Parts: sequence; structure tokens; C-alpha cells
Amino acid sequence: MNTITVNAYAKINLGLDVIRKRPDGYHDVCMIMQSLDLHDIITISRIPSTGIKIRTNLSYLPNDQGNLVYRAAALFLEAARIKDGLNITLEKNIPVAAGLAGGSSDAAATLKGLNELYQTGLSTEELKGLGVKIGADVPYCVQLGTALSEGIGEVLTPLPAIPECTVLLVKPDISVSTKYVYENLRLTGTVTHPDIAGMRHALEQNDLSSLAKTMDNLLQTVTVKDYPIITDIKRKMLELGALTSLMSGSGPTVFGIYKNVELAKKAFNYFKRHKHYGKQVFLTKPYYPER
Ligand code: ATP
Repeated sequence: MNTITVNAYAKINLGLDVIRKRPDGYHDVCMIMQSLDLHDIITISRIPSTGIKIRTNLSYLPNDQGNLVYRAAALFLEAARIKDGLNITLEKNIPVAAGLAGGSSDAAATLKGLNELYQTGLSTEELKGLGVKIGADVPYCVQLGTALSEGIGEVLTPLPAIPECTVLLVKPDISVSTKYVYENLRLTGTVTHPDIAGMRHALEQNDLSSLAKTMDNLLQTVTVKDYPIITDIKRKMLELGALTSLMSGSGPTVFGIYKNVELAKKAFNYFKRHKHYGKQVFLTKPYYPER
């Protein structure tokens, strides 16, 4: 085999709580992660020369060390002591800098793809160990599905899968800096922490309505103040029949969970027509790796 094609799935956070700021500046988090069917497509080919060449459909993305695909490929080749060169094409469908872990997922899929291409037989745990060197979310992107993520994001516990539903994504045309969000997060005083235990319970009961009622993201306490468009999208999604609507990660993408696919399609068409909410609008569903 000289070429392999792999999918890199987007994620949303069904729940996101921040426990504390650590002395090293990182934050301990407690999040419920969920993979989505929306994915990038990565094709990797071995070439006789040396070096890693990346081509992508987004001209503004770096094609060198700045691209997480490059870093994952270089890390893998070094760890496996492989001297080949690689041609990699990256078809981006996941919005960039959106709170959907697109870059981390590309890195994870690159590691998994290379493991298969070279038949190196690294275990999932070994791939996660390489992935964490690239970023805290990469181990989850290796694992996929529904999972509790703790520590800085690298301590993972698989959870029962989310019941079937439709997920609407709207990315407003703003950039939100993750650093800014964490720096402005207040963890003391009257802050109400998301009920992660309640969400776990709802997943264990396979109960989408209770899950939706408990889902929450603490980082919204920062972003809704500064970016009213996030509240506008959430409100509109609820008006259009979403069970719940939340910001994913540190934003700015907002997602809505729909039980009824027809309502979800109507809402999707509404946002497609009203572009001031955001030009990037997707209708997708959870991705179930085991199915
Ligand atoms: P997270 O949810 O983990 O915070 P994100 O969705 O906010 O991630 P990404 O799309 O992963 O953000 O990328 C953020 C930055 O990383 C971008 O500014 C981009 O230039 C850089 N980057 C490097 N490699 C990639 C890649 N393969 N895909 C997307 N962005 C990449």
C-alpha cells in the first residue's frame, strides 16, 4: 500500500466545565466530547524523495510545521524511524479556529493513517501518547465518540453514545481567541458550574431531552458578554425547535441539537438564507465510531 485516505471528524462539547487554573498556567477542565460526522479528508502517499509536502484547499492554512498535519506526520516518522517522504492532501470541511477541534482532529487522523499505511501496529494508547505532544485534544480525536475529558483534556473516559439526533452548526464570522476567553474566565463568586454528572446520567439513561436540559458550557459566561451574535444564534436555534443550543469549546461556533430532522432542515435553511448570523452553516449528526 502506497496511499491511504482517512477522515478527521469535528467535535463539539456537550458539556464544558473549568475546575481550576493550575500553577503552570493551564486549566483543569471537565468536558463531555462528542464527535460529529462533519469531517476533513486526508490522503497520504509515500514518495521516493524526502520531506513532507502538504497541499490543502484553504490557501491561508500553513503547509509547513505550522500545520498540525505536518507536525503529526513528522512526529510519527521520527518515532517509527521511517525515512520516506510524504505527499499529503488535506481537504478542509471543518471550519478553522471555530471550537470544533479541526486541527487536532487532522493531527489524530494523520497519526492513525500513517500507522495503517506503514503497518506499524502502534496501539491506540501509543497513538494518543504521540498525539498529546501536539495538543491536549489530540488524544480524544484519536479515540473519538462520546467521552469525558479531564486534566487539561488528555485524561479520557468513554461514555455511552449520545442518542441519535441532528446537529446544526453555525459559525459566526468573528474570531474569538481561546487565550482571551480563559484569561477572562471568573471561577470564583456566583459562577454556576455545568452539571457534568447530570449529563453523564442522562447519557447512561439514553435520554436526549434530559441531556439537552443539562448541557452547558462555562466559557459562554465570557463570550456572550463580548459577542452578542452568539446569544442571537442560540436564541434563533431555540426558536426554530432546537432542544438546546450551546457554544462549542471556546467558540465561536454555536450548535443546536434537534430531535426532529425536519425541524433541523428548516432551521438549516433559515440560517443559510440569513447570512448575517454567519456564512458557515452545516447540518450534520453525531459520529458513532463503533457502528
Ligand atoms: P479547538 O476546538 O481545539 O480550540 P479550533 O477549532 O478552535 O480548535 P483549529 O481549526 O484546530 O481551531 O485551528 C486553529 C489554528 O491552528 C488556526 O489558526 C490554524 O492556522 C492552525 N492550524 C494548523 N493546522 C491546522 C489544520 N490542519 N486545520 C486547521 N487549522 C490548523
